[in-house]
Amino acid sequence: MRKSHVKLFVPGPIEVRPEVLQAMATPQIYHRTPEFRELYSELQMKLKKFLYTEQTVLLFTSSSTGVMEAAVLNCVKKKCLNLVNGAFARRWHEITQACGVPCEALEVPWDKAIRPAQVEAKLKTGEFDAVTLVFNETSTGLMNPLAEIAEVVRRFPDVLLLVDAVTAMGGVKIEFDKLGLDVCLAGVQKCFGLPPGLTVCAVSERALKRAEMVKPKTYYFNFLVMLKSHQKNETPATPTIPHLFALNLQLDYFFEEGLERRFARHEEMAKIVQAWAKKYFDIYPEEGHWSKTLTCIKNNRGISVDELNRTLIREHGMRISNGYGDLREKTFRIAHMGDLTPADIYGLLQALEEILGLS
Ligand SMILES: *Cc1c(COP(=O)(O)O)cnc(C)c1O
Repeated sequence: MRKSHVKLFVPGPIEVRPEVLQAMATPQIYHRTPEFRELYSELQMKLKKFLYTEQTVLLFTSSSTGVMEAAVLNCVKKKCLNLVNGAFARRWHEITQACGVPCEALEVPWDKAIRPAQVEAKLKTGEFDAVTLVFNETSTGLMNPLAEIAEVVRRFPDVLLLVDAVTAMGGVKIEFDKLGLDVCLAGVQKCFGLPPGLTVCAVSERALKRAEMVKPKTYYFNFLVMLKSHQKNETPATPTIPHLFALNLQLDYFFEEGLERRFARHEEMAKIVQAWAKKYFDIYPEEGHWSKTLTCIKNNRGISVDELNRTLIREHGMRISNGYGDLREKTFRIAHMGDLTPADIYGLLQALEEILGLS
């Protein structure tokens, strides 16, 4: 039974525009037709513009986790350095292990950003030929210094930089070519503002060359198999065609708003929530590395986050997120991403103040 809609301020899945939902109901087309190839090539054009890249953007019918797996299966020949300061980063380390890919984790406390110097020291050992980094750690609301880390990794020509940008892409500018990234992936149910089921993944020429050397032991997640179809504006297996229609429309909305304005809107929403969090609570990660797409708030008032959410849903039709894993009751998270606006955020914060009797 479908109850009335609860507005989502959780870090994925997020609110989807009705027009985009409607686009998913477009009558299906056969994926081996000129019509499909036209849709695919239109998407390529838009995605390249959106990611500031001349290189390849692959579309996987999978959530992000599958493509995290693809990245390590295709891009590591020697050994992978997994940078870990949160639950999703740890997941990537576990994925790398599960795939039987040699790896080592560099773990720092979860409220601290990864420092470029720490990465440099590890890479100087010459042991590694790939690094995984979660740009925006959704479990802690921490944004790692991507540009600075990329600069360090680029000083080691044989090391590939694989980036999980799941809760960043679409909310924060990512200049794939200029940064010199090798893999940059994001499922579309976060900042893109689409339902879950599709992952966008930019791959560099270097990454594709590496895949040739690695001969990845996977078919569905093989970059080279994907590339061969990609060059014909197709996918090897049947893709989630409803998502392709929806993404095509959503990218039009991105350009209509203007990419710079879209990113500025995310910054504005982040600042509003950060100021509110500092006034009434505190922010979990260290200052200077607060996420621009979600805020992880320290529950230093000892409120029941579960109860807060229940009241918020019942009385205001909105939902925020509890903390992730070990941080479940110690923190709570407010997502400010996708197509949400500062007005939506003010509405949410006011509701929270009412429930909690803050003023
Ligand atoms: C949500 C998320 C994932 C996993 O996405 P799934 O859709 O559950 O596969 C990975 N990394 C980050 C940073 C995320 O926020």
